[in-house]
Amino acid sequence: MKELKERILKDGYIINEDILKVDSFINHQADPGLMKQIGEALAAHFKDKGVTKVVTIESSGIAPALMTALALEVPMVILKKEPSKVLNEGLLQTMVTSFTKGTSYELTLSKRFITEMDHVLIVDDFLANGEAATGAIRLLRMAHATVAGLGILIEKSFQPGREKLIEQGIDVYSLARISSLKDGAITFIPESE
Ligand code: 5GP
Repeated sequence: MKELKERILKDGYIINEDILKVDSFINHQADPGLMKQIGEALAAHFKDKGVTKVVTIESSGIAPALMTALALEVPMVILKKEPSKVLNEGLLQTMVTSFTKGTSYELTLSKRFITEMDHVLIVDDFLANGEAATGAIRLLRMAHATVAGLGILIEKSFQPGREKLIEQGIDVYSLARISSLKDGAITFIPESE
């Protein structure tokens, strides 16, 4: 997506060869106009897949996921990050290791919001090692839902997330695919590849 790539080049900040900071337009301050365009682009790709709900992981995925859900005219569900096991019969939980923080958390979903009737599109800001997305898929399967696909804003294609998810049969669609953050430069994979 041209607008997202241009914004990453303008306002993205390379922390090191592995981490890109986008906190001025995605995950600390968010640009509503860009989020709307992102939601429309993800919705256009998945519009014929029979999506019943959009699911995201708190907190950075919420803005683009809500815009995607709005464009698809379906509800959005937020998977919560709980620090430790919360004992509650109505909750499903699975452990995920955070790429950026090096910590673990319990990804949590109330059974009330996702059922075996749901065909779910997962939306998240970044795809790196695929741990967050794999955790979300585990949780959706625990709820007996099916996965329509994974919509990502920024994929770091030099990390193994995409391959891991494709191996599981997941339709991965990323709006910006970064092939390298080396030498202080952000390099994208051309859109046709
Ligand atoms: P994964 O689980 O695929 O390894 O990492 C995905 C999660 O880690 C995303 O939800 C995102 O919040 C965070 N993340 C991964 N890489 C980056 C990065 O380069 N920059 C930022 N800001 N977050 C990242």
